[in-house]
Amino acid sequence: MCKDLDKTGSLNEPNARSSAAAFPHLLSPIIIGDLKLKNRMVMGAMHTRLETMDNPLDREIAFYAARAKGGIGLIISGGFSPNKEGLFEKDSLAMDAELDLGYQKSLCAAVVEAGSPFVAQLLHAGRYSRFNGCVGPSAIKSPINPYTPRPLTTQQVWSTIDDFARAAELARSCGYSGIEVMGSEGYLINQFLAKRANHRDDVFGGSAKKRMRFPVEIIRSIRKAVGNDFPLIFRISAIELVEDGMSQLEILELARWLENEGIDCFNTGIGWHESRVPTVSSVTPRAAFSKYTAAIKKVVDVPVIASNRINDPQIAEQVIANGDADLVSMARQMLADPAFANKCLEGRPEEINTCIACNQACLDKVFVGEVPTCLVNPRALREIEFPDTTADVSRRVAVVGGGAAGLTAASEASRRGHTVVLFEQKQNLGGLLNLASQVPDKSEFQELLRFLKNRIKRGKVEVQLNSAPDVAELAGFDEIIIATGVKPRVPQIEGIDHQNVAFYDDILSGKRMAGSRVAIVGSGGVGIDVAEFIIHGGPRTPNLEEFSREFGVTQESCVAGGFTADTQYCPEPKRKVTLLQRGSGKVGQNLSVTTRWIKLKRLHRAGVISLANVEYLAIDDEGLHVEIGSIPRLIEADTIVICAGQISNTSLPNELDAANISYNLVGGAKAADELDAMRAIDEATRLAMKI
Ligand code: SF4
Repeated sequence: MCKDLDKTGSLNEPNARSSAAAFPHLLSPIIIGDLKLKNRMVMGAMHTRLETMDNPLDREIAFYAARAKGGIGLIISGGFSPNKEGLFEKDSLAMDAELDLGYQKSLCAAVVEAGSPFVAQLLHAGRYSRFNGCVGPSAIKSPINPYTPRPLTTQQVWSTIDDFARAAELARSCGYSGIEVMGSEGYLINQFLAKRANHRDDVFGGSAKKRMRFPVEIIRSIRKAVGNDFPLIFRISAIELVEDGMSQLEILELARWLENEGIDCFNTGIGWHESRVPTVSSVTPRAAFSKYTAAIKKVVDVPVIASNRINDPQIAEQVIANGDADLVSMARQMLADPAFANKCLEGRPEEINTCIACNQACLDKVFVGEVPTCLVNPRALREIEFPDTTADVSRRVAVVGGGAAGLTAASEASRRGHTVVLFEQKQNLGGLLNLASQVPDKSEFQELLRFLKNRIKRGKVEVQLNSAPDVAELAGFDEIIIATGVKPRVPQIEGIDHQNVAFYDDILSGKRMAGSRVAIVGSGGVGIDVAEFIIHGGPRTPNLEEFSREFGVTQESCVAGGFTADTQYCPEPKRKVTLLQRGSGKVGQNLSVTTRWIKLKRLHRAGVISLANVEYLAIDDEGLHVEIGSIPRLIEADTIVICAGQISNTSLPNELDAANISYNLVGGAKAADELDAMRAIDEATRLAMKI
């Protein structure tokens, strides 16, 4: 059984008593090997790419120390390869003889000093390495990497095992508190474990047992190198979600075997990176995979960690209370809010800045080789660019517009010590966030709105609803921030005033109902969101049963990979939709790289027709008259929804210009791109820092 610490002594903070009552399992201490953790919250490993930036040590210390100070029970570092050929990218770090030990010692000391144990993850990318010359168990290319791996010889496999052991020793000498060996997500160890990537016929391939030998030998040799008193975590694939992946029976056998070799804790990974089942996006229900973690917990006696789409303390508490896991791992949630754990501990869960699972500023950036950050928290991985300073002089600041940009600017300006008045023309705060949260499976946007509203309240910002200040009123302020957002662009089409025409905001706000046949003008991000809304007949929060049916996820323990690839399940579409665009590019080409495929698959299954190179001619009672390649065509439709872009609301800036009053523009009022909350929040935060 896993060992619980005496549950006294760590809950002395304000409101700790009520928090302990609300989250008794989450906040209770636990031991992994010899490592005492003050609570059950773990920050999972992430590719930060900070090593590619200037001042990497300062940046890493600022990033990890902020999370340690934020009360998390354990932090796991980004992955170090045990050797050069296992690097994820050429500029990632290997835990080898060339590693800067002084740098690593300073980093470890700073993180531990800030209050959290710090475990090093060892990750050999295998066929996921993004360079020519990558290696793998067999010469089988991954569908998400252009490079075919060179198969390791038997001798090279043994030498890779030795590299893992040496890397673990090095990590210990740097001051890391333990090791996590990455055995999931489709990286090298996982590749050895599954028939999908391992076609070897030596001692490391063939039967399931022989495929398991590679991780077993790694753990055996690490144990020998670091001794029994150094915590060892194995990140095991709880469900593979790929064809020819391990079955659950094989996974459970592996867990038992590794426990016998001296593993102190299992962290769980979900799916391979090449899986066609969404495992972390907003279409995935919260804690969707905790049952697979529970299956592992049933067969081992060491603590087990659940992961994926855990972004809320109630959900985290439930996962542990249900007995599905002993701890929860959160990675992106720790980008969104470094103080998540302290907010639970101090009875302030409503102040948590929740990860909305958009992937926009984190995974999408990693995918294209950039340093990630977070849509809801632009400070993430940019900590040193945003010192928590207050202004030298307190000013009176007017913020006009209560959407994402305005709410952020107002709360940041208030935090800097200014007296802030926020004017919002409508009767509700939130602006376009209110619309975004109506899109099916984007209900997490409501969490962002809750967070921003709470910040405004705590910051004592004076909010004036139903209020559009004029120039005379604004002239009395020291600083004016215009965050009045955008309005839909009206395309020049004959009949645009026809009663069958609606704009995207009318549809998403519920002001207008679409008829049974719908033509959507514009197939950018907004057009696709509106198409999903119309097909589904309104908003939706992800549902586990539907999700499993749609993506073929199964709990059958003998099914390889834990899923069936050929599911064609699609909820009955509520409308017939045609999506049109002027351009010749592919529909959805500007969408998030990690979620585009999900949206396009859904549209395809719902029978949405996409048309490109469209000239819009006229709208009348019959529908939308167009020309495609000089051939006239009628798109029969009861409703024509216009999603043809936005333009900035410029009337107030024009009036201020005329009165020679200076102001600052942010968000949509500055540039009318797509509904881009990431840019709006980042711009507003940076602007407030300068005031
Ligand atoms: Fe979460 Fe989106 Fe932030 Fe990534 S960018 S951590 S998915 S809120």
